[in-house]
Amino acid sequence: MAEQFDVVVIGAGPAGYHAAIRAAQLGLKTACIDAALGKDGKPALGGTCLRVGCIPSKALLDSSRQFWNMGHIFGDHGISFNDAKIDVGAMVGRKDKIVKQFTGGIAQLFKANKVAAYYGFGQLQAGNVVTVKQHDGSTVELKGTNVIIAAGSDSIELPFAKFNGDTIVDNVGALDFTEVPKRLAVIGAGVIGLELGSVWKRLGAEVTILEAMPEFLAAADSEAAKVAAKEFKKQGLDIQLNAKVSKTEVKGKEVLVTYSDASGEKTITVDKLLVAVGRRAATKGLLADGTGVQVNERGQIVVDDHCHTGVDGVWAVGDCVRGPMLAHKGFEEGIAVAELIAGLPGHVNFDTIPWVIYTEPELAWVGKTEQQLKAEGIPYKAGSFPFAANGRAVAMSEPAGFVKVLAHAETDRILGMHMVGVNVSELVHEGVLAMEFSGSADDLARICHAHPSLSEVVHDAAMAVGKRSIHKAN
Ligand SMILES: Cc1cc2nc3c(=O)[nH]c(=O)nc-3n(C[C@H](O)[C@H](O)[C@H](O)COP(=O)(O)OP(=O)(O)OC[C@H]3O[C@@H](n4cnc5c(N)ncnc54)[C@H](O)[C@@H]3O)c2cc1C
Repeated sequence: MAEQFDVVVIGAGPAGYHAAIRAAQLGLKTACIDAALGKDGKPALGGTCLRVGCIPSKALLDSSRQFWNMGHIFGDHGISFNDAKIDVGAMVGRKDKIVKQFTGGIAQLFKANKVAAYYGFGQLQAGNVVTVKQHDGSTVELKGTNVIIAAGSDSIELPFAKFNGDTIVDNVGALDFTEVPKRLAVIGAGVIGLELGSVWKRLGAEVTILEAMPEFLAAADSEAAKVAAKEFKKQGLDIQLNAKVSKTEVKGKEVLVTYSDASGEKTITVDKLLVAVGRRAATKGLLADGTGVQVNERGQIVVDDHCHTGVDGVWAVGDCVRGPMLAHKGFEEGIAVAELIAGLPGHVNFDTIPWVIYTEPELAWVGKTEQQLKAEGIPYKAGSFPFAANGRAVAMSEPAGFVKVLAHAETDRILGMHMVGVNVSELVHEGVLAMEFSGSADDLARICHAHPSLSEVVHDAAMAVGKRSIHKAN
């Protein structure tokens, strides 16, 4: 006999745990199922984000940034030292401790909010029943008036570069190298490839990033992507565009990677190969026959604008559905669906979802790029300001990058904001907030910003839209 719940959530990643906790807060009897185990072999909630994604990558980015700054920025401050070393074991251990703290934190939040946690693999049956194959081998059945699928995503594997957990890895392996590889190749110059490539580059690896597309970071504003590419090049990240990998061969402890570009076929030899060519919705084994839930040609669960699958009481959120594969997009969808189930007006504004790439300098943006505005024929004006002219950034020895504000040519409404530079992962939220309130560039220009602060770059860029910059020529 299946236990009855108001809401059964499959997956306790960012999308699933937000949905579960919000549903429970709203008084709904809620269960959440997750199959994942941590490095210690015990159940670990929090999904890709907390276990092998957002948080561990940021932990390593921060460690490697401190190390890089010792060699590249401390000298400017008159600080010298002898013989800086990195203990990779200690660095990875610190990352693991952070992961444990946060995955354990979700278990505590479930307890506090009375979300019933089930540890095992969930499969949706017809009639909103979910069977859970638990880690001890037993099976339980849960019936939900509503079922929210939040199964997330897995790394895409290339047929000619199969993961072997040692020399050819995905994000999971690249977060756990036991030493700095002398030579690292990365397939894919997307967010994951750039971030994890940066970690090991800063620690001393020779890093070659092979990207099949002709354009670098095509989703970003092209001016921002150009500025970032120049900075990455200065750091020694070797990014090869138009480079199509066709073959890999593992020879002992090395990998031979064959790719072709405009000048023909080449083979490089590396110690580690990270394959970061994207992620695919994790729907394998998730849906029994007869559920009625549709999966599209990309393997994503088909949903409408409100994350409803079209099957009575069945919803899907996060990486396993359309839209950007970002943790905070999943957060918002999870909350919105829980609220819709409770009869509240749940809603996600896809136009104001911020994007961040946590490289050095960071890239961040919200809204439309200049190339999108041009393609859509929307009249716009742009204002930008460089970090090199900002007192706080220069005092921090962080002059790289700029902020650009794009506003409608007639109404002045902000349509997009694009940033490259220090801490832009935080600054981008000025743009998100302004856009959520339908703000104009003039609104932002008239808001007092503390001096000296990095946020003044946003202020100055907004002033530049109206050609009334004080700190640069108009
Ligand atoms: C290296 C890396 C860095 C990243 N950095 C960022 C970042 O900085 N910012 C950002 O916004 N995003 C980042 N992401 C993306 C982010 O991790 C994902 O967008 C996010 O985790 C998606 O959340 P989700 O809840 O949809 O799925 P997931 O986090 O993938 O969680 C799904 C959960 O469901 C469980 N599950 C799946 N199927 C079943 C089943 N049938 N039964 C039971 N359990 C099941 C899985 O075990 C998993 O725990 C990063 C990703 C990677 C790989």
